[in-house]
Amino acid sequence: MIIQRVVLNSRPGKNGVPVAENFRLEQSTIADMIQVGQVRVRTLYLSVDPYMRCRMNEDTGSDYLLPWQLSEVADGGGIGVVEESKHHNLAKGDFVTSFNWPWQTVAILDGSLLQKLDPQLVNGHLSYFLGAAGITGLTALLGIKEKGHVAVGANQTMVVSGAAGACGSMAGQIGRLEGCSRVVGIAGTDEKCSILVQEMGFDAAINYKKGDVAKQLRELCPGGVDVYFDNVGGDISDTVISQMNQNSHIILCGQISQYNKDVPYPPPLPPHIEKIQKERNITRERFLVLNYMDKQEASVLQLCQWIQEGKLKVRETVVEGLANIGAAFQSLMSGGNIGKQIVSVSK
Ligand code: NAP
Repeated sequence: MIIQRVVLNSRPGKNGVPVAENFRLEQSTIADMIQVGQVRVRTLYLSVDPYMRCRMNEDTGSDYLLPWQLSEVADGGGIGVVEESKHHNLAKGDFVTSFNWPWQTVAILDGSLLQKLDPQLVNGHLSYFLGAAGITGLTALLGIKEKGHVAVGANQTMVVSGAAGACGSMAGQIGRLEGCSRVVGIAGTDEKCSILVQEMGFDAAINYKKGDVAKQLRELCPGGVDVYFDNVGGDISDTVISQMNQNSHIILCGQISQYNKDVPYPPPLPPHIEKIQKERNITRERFLVLNYMDKQEASVLQLCQWIQEGKLKVRETVVEGLANIGAAFQSLMSGGNIGKQIVSVSK
């Protein structure tokens, strides 16, 4: 059977900016017959995520991420529909997902490595299982629960960087649902800031590409910052940490501003910021959602319930067509998305 697939065409280099041409669309074939335990699936949605930047390097710099190989099919979070099954638990028409879905139109996969999805849980928005009700929603929820020390009635102010992205847009809303009294986002355009405040219930948002971030933060967080959900690192995080309170908490979600640099993870803070962090006893522990997968099922149900109740507003940036996945990744890494970036493969 003839299929289309996307392979890694070239590596950007550890300090390079990834471009669409790092990926290549090509025709390939898969077997006509499936074996016992296997399913043939048609791909519906693929996820592009910042961590994939590390997989483009020969050495990902982490023990839980494998590098993509040149001229081999790339993979990541994906959703598809079963077209043929020889797995006892899966039937034709079932919707399924995996963290290691190959970037190809049709694939033969081991059924035991797939999770079945119930579209009703997300009001039919299947792609939400890659974002708000998937790994990015889980990252926001579990990051806040495990590292945020958020408590109802504690009158806490939360700041979120990368706030209009997949994790950030969930984190601000969940921070509020979990009990923060004030939530301020930091994002890269006026449009993003407006969506955060008008649609997602943030109290305020700062466009970090305009004006003085430190001054705006002081005005918008007069009582200082108690919880910082950090997606970006770098100068923005240094500015936020300078305004954090004694015994406050950083949720070290990601450091996207550093991903095109050959630095260790997490990147060390500049000495004067590290001094503030230590003197004020600000926690900054590494957080990795994959370490909390025992809480996945209950947490996904919680996220789905909030989505159904309209308490979590979801935004997606959808790019059509497998051929455009490289361009989608390039755009993601330069902040071109609002909410979760998804590639729709069905068209
Ligand atoms: P995303 O949807 O791409 O959102 C990130 C946002 O960050 C972008 O939309 C972009 O918007 C902003 N950004 C990009 N480059 C920036 C820069 N140089 N400086 C400041 N802001 C920049 O990504 P995501 O899926 O939400 O992931 C967010 C972070 O969480 C990433 O660092 C990712 O690696 C991390 N993550 C961690 C875990 C975990 O288990 N710890 C799990 C999932 C994701 P604007 O610049 O326009 O604001």
